[in-house]
Amino acid sequence: MSDTSNFILNLSVLFRNTQKYFDKMLAPYDIGSGQLTFLLIINENEGITMQDVTRISEVDKGTTTKSIQRLIEQGYVSAVQDEKDHRMKHLHTTDKASAMMTAVYDFRNQCRAALASGVDFDQFEEMLNVACENSRNILSSEPTAFHTLKIGALQKTTITDYPGKVAATIYTAGCNMKCPFCNQKDLVFIPEKYRYITPEEILSYLNQRSGLLDGVVISGGEPLLQEELIPFIRQIKELGYAVKLDTNGTNNEKLGVLLEEGLVDFVSLDMKNSAEKYPLTSGLKSDVEYKHPISESVRLLQEYKVEHEFKTTVVKEFHTVDDLIKIAKFIGSDAHYVLQQFVSSDSVIQPDLHAYTAEEMVEMKKAVEPYVKTVELRLAKEV
Ligand code: SF4
Repeated sequence: MSDTSNFILNLSVLFRNTQKYFDKMLAPYDIGSGQLTFLLIINENEGITMQDVTRISEVDKGTTTKSIQRLIEQGYVSAVQDEKDHRMKHLHTTDKASAMMTAVYDFRNQCRAALASGVDFDQFEEMLNVACENSRNILSSEPTAFHTLKIGALQKTTITDYPGKVAATIYTAGCNMKCPFCNQKDLVFIPEKYRYITPEEILSYLNQRSGLLDGVVISGGEPLLQEELIPFIRQIKELGYAVKLDTNGTNNEKLGVLLEEGLVDFVSLDMKNSAEKYPLTSGLKSDVEYKHPISESVRLLQEYKVEHEFKTTVVKEFHTVDDLIKIAKFIGSDAHYVLQQFVSSDSVIQPDLHAYTAEEMVEMKKAVEPYVKTVELRLAKEV
């Protein structure tokens, strides 16, 4: 069981056992543990009003009223009307209550002693007070705008990720593919204790850099897996940034929403390989349905006429010239097709893969040029 489960379990056990203890000890007096807090407050604040008991006990008004009404009926508490304000009543403990209060304090001390066994209880109580204060802050703090958005990294400035713009790149964590050539291994197989960057930190940075950066690239991982991506991009757009999205195209529905709302200015859609080699190149099982969503994503980019590119990371073990020609034919004669040279590193999922040489990449570019509008080579180093 994890530490978090123990924490909740421990709180629950502590609460239930102390409650059972007081129920047992107070049974001869026909009162329950739920009334104890109110009885102690009234005993130590003679003449207190119902409103003040509610405030001090931090229990809702209905529960306070019900519990005190029962103490009144049992003869432990009396309510005296205020002389000036007839709506207000002052609460007092009765002689019947006074007769048992010494025993009640004794039960409390016995409970405390039992819990203190083997524990530095003074120190524990001090910490418990702080934890209680912190718990009040949990309830009063504003809920954060984003609860599920997972951002793994931020590149604060880039001149290469967004064509023609000085940008920041945000990397979302998590992907529905496992491309062997992926150079963001930690965003796919997220390590234990991974430290995410909060969306609020990112927005604060972008706010500070407004006017100095032109654009924001949302990359990954697969950004469109993130439930809160759309409201997050809306906030980036409100800061005045152009937004480029890098995607594998498997969530055509969310891409459609982004295009419809005009939330993205540039889309880079990965074309992993020819249709028959998609499972091999994307790490997807062959029965995963990806052809339709990816075809739809391609169609959407053409329909909405948003600035876009189709990109293939070319790897010797996976791609032949024929594969690239098949991709080029699929994306069509209006397409801007980017051939990116594979680069191996420690952050690649399968680092023993190989790149084609720059000269071979130039030959591949020539081979696909007849089938698309433009072809761009992205090489690790210029030839
Ligand atoms: S290359 Fe892109 S789609 Fe493939 S595993 Fe990496 S992040 Fe996911």
